Amino acid sequence: MSELQFQPARRVVIVGGGTAGWMTAAALSTLLGPLHEIHLVESDEIGTIGVGEATIPHIRVFNQALGINEDDFIRATQGSFKLGIEFVNWGQLGDRYIHGFGTIGHDYHGTPFHHWWLRRQAEGRGGDLAAVSINTAAPLQARFMRPRADMAGSPLADIAYAFHFDASLYARFLRGFAEQRGVRRHEGRITRVHQRPGDGFITGVTLASGQQIDGDFFIDCSGIRALLMEQTLMVGYEDWRHWLPCDRAIAVPCASVEPLLPITRSTAHSAGWQWRIPLQHRIGNGHVFCSRFMSEDEAQSILLNHLDGEPLAEPRTIRYVTGRRLRFWDRNCVAVGLSSGFLEPLESTSIHLIQTAITRIIQFFPHAGFDSADIAEYNRQTRYEYERIRDFLILHYHATDRSDSPFWNHCRTMEVPESLRHRMALFLSNGRVVREGNELFAEASWFQVMYGQRMRPRAYHPLAAQRPLAEVQDFVDGVEQVIGRCVQVMPSHAEFIAEHCAAPSPK
Ligand code: FAD
Repeated sequence: MSELQFQPARRVVIVGGGTAGWMTAAALSTLLGPLHEIHLVESDEIGTIGVGEATIPHIRVFNQALGINEDDFIRATQGSFKLGIEFVNWGQLGDRYIHGFGTIGHDYHGTPFHHWWLRRQAEGRGGDLAAVSINTAAPLQARFMRPRADMAGSPLADIAYAFHFDASLYARFLRGFAEQRGVRRHEGRITRVHQRPGDGFITGVTLASGQQIDGDFFIDCSGIRALLMEQTLMVGYEDWRHWLPCDRAIAVPCASVEPLLPITRSTAHSAGWQWRIPLQHRIGNGHVFCSRFMSEDEAQSILLNHLDGEPLAEPRTIRYVTGRRLRFWDRNCVAVGLSSGFLEPLESTSIHLIQTAITRIIQFFPHAGFDSADIAEYNRQTRYEYERIRDFLILHYHATDRSDSPFWNHCRTMEVPESLRHRMALFLSNGRVVREGNELFAEASWFQVMYGQRMRPRAYHPLAAQRPLAEVQDFVDGVEQVIGRCVQVMPSHAEFIAEHCAAPSPK
């Protein structure tokens, strides 16, 4: 055992009751059982960030692990389903492509689908990439259904989906869930954090009311403030704004319009981009922009001019710095959620990072003291995860032909990390897409974004080049036809929700 000795972590204190705090409380109370006393402190006066409404498919694993009924969860959060993200105006003004979850086509002669697709394109036979995956073809017709386990071998058995939901209703839903499992909630602003003399381990927090809450193990879910990790332990931050330059977002909900799309939309503007997240009762919108290239007034007017329905609230500005904490676990404290760092919401990865942090906390949960090897491994894995997602996000900004504004000129010409440069070179030379280790985004994701952002490789796999063109054409056409027929049997997204999980009308 290392020098970082401490008593067993029987009493866990979660600081913060946003998405990160309540997801952590729900998971720890379910998965660690009654051996641990779990306390959560949140401040109504400070509130939560109130955004973060689009997810990726892994969240279903989280729900399943906790035994959350999916229809109940959708109803409680005014949720909807998500098959991917549509990117508008990214490669060039007027461009449109979808990054769908899951796979595109299927391998042929042991060679990934995209090489066959590239051959067909190179021969000038055209075609829309959205037509070869159920996750990209269905949103174009606003259709959705859950995968059918009884249709093995059909694309209908292989529909990858995630959710859109109302962030405040999600926190409320998880709060009910966690409190039923014994989590004790304390409301109030923390005014003081207590540390043990000598090694600086956190021993407790005091609220404005004077109440003191002591603990053995602290999870900092206090959001961008990082009350424990930065303000108390001062672990430091690696700023990534030279790669991910946007640093503000203005958010505003608006009234719903038909059809209800099973997809998040990201529309690039001249110094950032706008999200559109359709829920049952409203559409969430926000303009993410770079304050070096655009004023807040201009960003707000662009946002308001690009809403589908009437705004339902006053626009709200959020400021942030993209990057990561130098350490995610320090002494007896782990940062989860925005306190651990912030990546662009472009691919909806933040809630996923909360989920993987919780998984890792459970994996490395201290039982007889805090071990420096455990902590180092936790930090190494988290850093790796952050950096791989970072590269994927930078790709969206960098792989563009846009030259219509100083912002896009900056992004197109900026230096990118060597790891990303290498991946782009692999693709541009022979159409190769590599997935590193167990990184989050698979080959199909990298391909859809690279291709969607106008990257065209000089060649493709020799196997795809050697087969007769007619065979390649038949194969890719066949995939398109099967997908087309499958989409026709799917109900509309709105019909699916009405049948399974419609939320009561908001009061
Ligand atoms: P918060 O919601 O800020 O919660 C912090 C908590 O700490 C609050 O309860 C607060 O009261 C408490 N607190 C703070 N200080 C004190 C104190 N002194 N005393 C007591 N309590 C205190 N993620 C996605 O996955 N998908 C998305 O589409 C997405 N979009 C985003 C868009 C934007 C513009 C931004 C900025 C983020 C987005 N995210 C998204 C990220 C997502 O919002 C967060 O990861 C998620 O909401 C978790 O936030 P949090 O719980 O860490 O922080």
